[in-house]
Amino acid sequence: MIDDSEDPKVPFARRGSIVDEHDLIALSELVHSDAPLSQGIRREQFEERFRRFIGSRHALSVTSATVALQLAIHLLDLAPGDEVIVTPQTYQATGQPLLDYDVTVRFCDVEPGSLNIDPDALEALITDRTRGVILVHYGGFSCDADRILALTRPRGIVVIEDCAHALGSRYFGRRPGSLADIGCFSFHTTKNITTLGEGGMITFERDEWRERLDRLRSNEVDAVFTPRADRNMVEPVALPWMKYSQGVYRQNCAEVRRAGTNATMSEAAAAVGLVQMDKLPDLVATRRSIAIRLNEVVRGALGTRTLEPPPHIEHSWHLYTFLIEGAGRRDRLVQQLHRRGVEIQLRYFPLHLLPEWRARGHVQGECPIAERLWFTEQVNLPCHPGLSEGQIRHMVDALDESLAELPQSAGDRPLQARP
Ligand SMILES: *Cc1c(COP(=O)(O)O)cnc(C)c1O
Repeated sequence: MIDDSEDPKVPFARRGSIVDEHDLIALSELVHSDAPLSQGIRREQFEERFRRFIGSRHALSVTSATVALQLAIHLLDLAPGDEVIVTPQTYQATGQPLLDYDVTVRFCDVEPGSLNIDPDALEALITDRTRGVILVHYGGFSCDADRILALTRPRGIVVIEDCAHALGSRYFGRRPGSLADIGCFSFHTTKNITTLGEGGMITFERDEWRERLDRLRSNEVDAVFTPRADRNMVEPVALPWMKYSQGVYRQNCAEVRRAGTNATMSEAAAAVGLVQMDKLPDLVATRRSIAIRLNEVVRGALGTRTLEPPPHIEHSWHLYTFLIEGAGRRDRLVQQLHRRGVEIQLRYFPLHLLPEWRARGHVQGECPIAERLWFTEQVNLPCHPGLSEGQIRHMVDALDESLAELPQSAGDRPLQARP
């Protein structure tokens, strides 16, 4: 037996979703059928279901959000000297594909009230060479998409939404993933739904991107080659499932073919994805109810600030985050919570200060707010549907006690949003 029992009392998030007998039934149906295990009907059904839920024109499944982001960045057709603006308050996968391009990356500082990119800071970073913006709806708190698009649309800048946290969120009734040009979703074990541990989806509006993405995610396979007796060459032959074989490719494969990949979501993953979509509203409601209880405790303490969205934003509460001011108080609090068995992971170390970005010349001071918050004020608490009532109570009590033990002097007033 594998022993997974070495646990904190309240784990940060080993699973972000509930996987149970309903998922098993879907898997069992697949296993007991003679359907193919890849490129079958379940993948198409999951994509269609997802597309409708998000309200995007297209949705294509892939094997992770990392691949979705790679493919999304590929669509920008970046040339040397182009510029891309990225949030620093995110997981490394958001900006990582850009390391392979000869482009200038500009990290845009965040707003302290949401940890999302600050539209004013964004405006100051836009130049004639800006080709793309990659934003994250941090923790599931939707970015102010209308303000951002008012800056980018007139200049033809493509906006990629990293929606790894934002499944289940809304912005003026619309879903992240349909707000801008391209949305990238994750179904990793810790995310709001999972396709058995790994998976992703890419949503987008432009029809011309569909064939390109579909081919890129499947090795560009769209013809088989048969020898021809009368000529010393091969002839591409389209089979019925090869959707794109009739056009240019057929005339000149060498010119059209690019370096594709295989990011095909398996039928097993898609079967579970369909079941997970049924559960999503309940999963998000559970997250919200935990966040409400944590907010009550945090609001009662001095020098703290909750990150609560305005009424036009529905938060998916993928992450529960609050801020605490006062020298050393955050670090003391994290220590006390760990001592009481509440696992804390501070998400995320500012991207521009990771070694790969420092090696490209990025330095401390580039995003002062993101840096100050991560190094001194930000706390992320466990907030996921796998927590039992007992674990939630334990966390609420541990938080209450740990906050009360902190020195009060440095934080005897509510936090102000500082410029
Ligand atoms: C999890 C995550 C990713 C990567 O998702 P994978 O599916 O694990 O590749 C990208 N961006 C953010 C913000 C994430 O949280």
